[in-house]
Amino acid sequence: MFVPKIKKFIQYNNYPEFQLKAVFFDMDGVLLDSMENHSLAWVKTMNSLDIPFTIEEAYLNEGRVGHDTINSSYMRTFGRKATLEEQEYIYETKTRHLEALGRIMSMPYSNQLLHKIKMQGLTNYLVTGSGQSSLLDSLDDYFPNIFPKEKMITAFDVKRGKPSPEPYLKALEKSGLNPWEIVVIENAPLGVESSVAAGLFTIAINTGPIDPEVLSSKGANIVLKGGMEELYYKWDDFYASSLSVKI
Ligand code: CA
Repeated sequence: MFVPKIKKFIQYNNYPEFQLKAVFFDMDGVLLDSMENHSLAWVKTMNSLDIPFTIEEAYLNEGRVGHDTINSSYMRTFGRKATLEEQEYIYETKTRHLEALGRIMSMPYSNQLLHKIKMQGLTNYLVTGSGQSSLLDSLDDYFPNIFPKEKMITAFDVKRGKPSPEPYLKALEKSGLNPWEIVVIENAPLGVESSVAAGLFTIAINTGPIDPEVLSSKGANIVLKGGMEELYYKWDDFYASSLSVKI
């Protein structure tokens, strides 16, 4: 079922083959069921500073590093970027609101999928624009023995966040692999844009209120409307397809 999509990807990018060796996972809205809390925390923070900001906007900004979200809201509201002090204050406030909203759960089926992938001899990497230490530090509680530090790219590793390809290019560099040996799992339009710009095969899972059409329009190779659960059940088919592709 996935073979034609993989072939199309190889031809489009002029790659010699597709030989899956690693899976790059986005964090929020993919591995963690965190987007509702992030959105609420952003809205509370911005509105307390008289900066108009909606839940929808939070989802559309998903994947950006915090200071990009802050600066674009400042530009729109005050006609200038936020100062470094303002950025720091706002991000701290957002972090406080996020933590006050309570413990975030892992996305159903995510742990099972990560372990399945590991058992298949593939390597899992985490590629996120997040700088939320409370979430990053607890990844080992959510997903034991899956993401050692050298398998993680976070807001602290990049100058430019998604939609720039930099986070995924950094992950590629860290893995030492070729772009035709990777599949990316993303849920947000800007994340898909980043991954596609890095030349990587991208599966978008729809886990929020975004219209799946938006994910396709950003260039996702496969869009699964049923989120992580659908990905979990279709993974073996995808993996088998990747092994059977002949050029
Ligand atoms: Ca995400």
